[in-house]
Amino acid sequence: MKNTISVLALLAMTFTPAMARSETLGAHVHGIALLQVAVEHDAMLLSFSSPLDNMLGFEHKPGNATEQAKTDVMAATLQHAETMFIANPEAACTLASVHLDSVALEADDADVEDHHHDGHADIDGEFIFHCSHADRLQWLDVMLFDPFPNLHRLKVEVVTPQRQAAAMLTNDERRVSW
Ligand SMILES: [Zn+2]
Repeated sequence: MKNTISVLALLAMTFTPAMARSETLGAHVHGIALLQVAVEHDAMLLSFSSPLDNMLGFEHKPGNATEQAKTDVMAATLQHAETMFIANPEAACTLASVHLDSVALEADDADVEDHHHDGHADIDGEFIFHCSHADRLQWLDVMLFDPFPNLHRLKVEVVTPQRQAAAMLTNDERRVSW
């Protein structure tokens, strides 16, 4: 319950344009992940950060064929970000790039173990969409709860040139509007 309380405390913090990035991204609570949405010019930038446990059920480099298969499915699912993050069609957004960063995705010879003394590890994803009418962006549906049932809650923070919004999405409430 201690972790739950700390997350609620984070939610209670004043939401600033700078998004207090270091503070919100610092929390590693299994079951919860963070999605930051930034809209500017003709782009929607999504920054996703989650404990690996939410996505894989483990938090280390894959150590056997089963874990490798899970990792491959995760990466492939996130690479198809246009099926995981669906904005309202009036904005006409198309996926432009995906960048994933996690110890689970490192090459075998990478010297990464020292970064994770506590046994926990995250995955970070950056997804860039180009939108023909970014000014018409009104909502985003997040579909991560189907392929990743260990993900129970997704904290979303939105910053556009006109407004800010925040929401806690769940399997039953997948849409953030602004
Ligand atoms: Zn963990």
